Amino acid sequence: MRSLLRPAFETLVDLVYPPHCAGCGTAQPSGKWICGKCEAAVRRLDGPKCAICSRPFDGMLDTFACPNCRGAELHLDFAVAVMHSHGLVRDLIHRFKYGREFHLRRVLGDWLVESFEDSRLAAMENPTLIPVPLHPARQRERRFNQSAALAEWVAESRGLRLEHPLRRRLHTVTQTHFDRRQRMRNLRDAFALRHNADVKDKSFLLVDDVLTTGSTLDECARVLLEGGARSVRAITVARG
Ligand SMILES: [Zn+2]
Ligand SMILES: [Zn+2]
Repeated sequence: MRSLLRPAFETLVDLVYPPHCAGCGTAQPSGKWICGKCEAAVRRLDGPKCAICSRPFDGMLDTFACPNCRGAELHLDFAVAVMHSHGLVRDLIHRFKYGREFHLRRVLGDWLVESFEDSRLAAMENPTLIPVPLHPARQRERRFNQSAALAEWVAESRGLRLEHPLRRRLHTVTQTHFDRRQRMRNLRDAFALRHNADVKDKSFLLVDDVLTTGSTLDECARVLLEGGARSVRAITVARG
């Protein structure tokens, strides 16, 4: 499913600079940001997967919770990831995040919109989108917050409200090599509600580029629920 609504500015830019495939660089007709060949090479998470964390499993029933999620004390209802974090998808996310290639939000954003094909999200009444915040120092370094850029794209495509009630308090160190307990300790107090934030009784959809362990999203959900939010779910482009 491709979003039909596009910002007028994008259309104008396309006229001046004809688009090229984000994957292989071949020229594309206006409104196309990835070629058919590259699109065919990406792997969607359309097989059986964990209903909570979107982790794919072979040969399982459609609805089940993986061993990680079963019995875990989670604040997030569930997270829907669209793609395997693999090959081109992983490359594009990496270029988007660290290579400052802001234009890639169009391809990644359109993929992220596909998360609404999940009937549980389609049934939500006007969820409010919240991007996972970056620490201001990190944002200066990257030029933009990739989660916020994606959330803006989804908000525009789906006509949803976007809010920024969360702020990042600490400059958390990269946690790739931490185990789960170390990650949770590192994340504790990393997020807080902004002073004027009003999250009471609202249903939220957190937005991020990739879900790896889910601990960042769950920590955001914990802060929102503590502030009185009714429910917190999440969407991500990819599942690591
Ligand atoms: Zn291509
Ligand atoms: Zn799971």
